[in-house]
Amino acid sequence: MLLVTIFGPGGERKMSDCIFCKIVDKEIPAKVVYEDDTVLAFNDIQPQAPVHVLVIPKKHISDLTALAEADLSKVTHIFKVIKEIAKDKGIDEEGYRIVNNCREKGGQTVGHLHFHLLGGRQMHWPPG
Ligand code: 5GP
Ligand code: ZN
Repeated sequence: MLLVTIFGPGGERKMSDCIFCKIVDKEIPAKVVYEDDTVLAFNDIQPQAPVHVLVIPKKHISDLTALAEADLSKVTHIFKVIKEIAKDKGIDEEGYRIVNNCREKGGQTVGHLHFHLLGGRQMHWPPG
């Protein structure tokens, strides 16, 4: 498979075969709930709860293991955005769940770092 690295308008690295990079570039449609220079949030295509939003860095970072120290501030910012979305969706007081599936044993299926924001129903533990 041919992998091409492309630089976006902000000099952010994109991967040509990555679904979430395509959503960032608006090549694939998604219901965007939040966007700024470095972060995008959109509804999951297969929602597992009344609120199921994916929050991602616009830069292509494959997963948490691959996250460089220099990009740690992106995750801090993502968590700030998650708090804002939870408030907008009216689930901040009742509570919600944040999930990051990392690599194969973590159950990650899309190789672009993302955090699931799940809410609007009772969550249970342990997850599968
Ligand atoms: P993971 O299993 O990697 O933690 O989560 C990937 C998530 O991306 C899944 O919940 C899946 O439903 C979602 N997903 C996969 N492809 C698309 C897509 O094209 N659009 C949107 N909005 N979500 C997607
Ligand atoms: Zn990507």
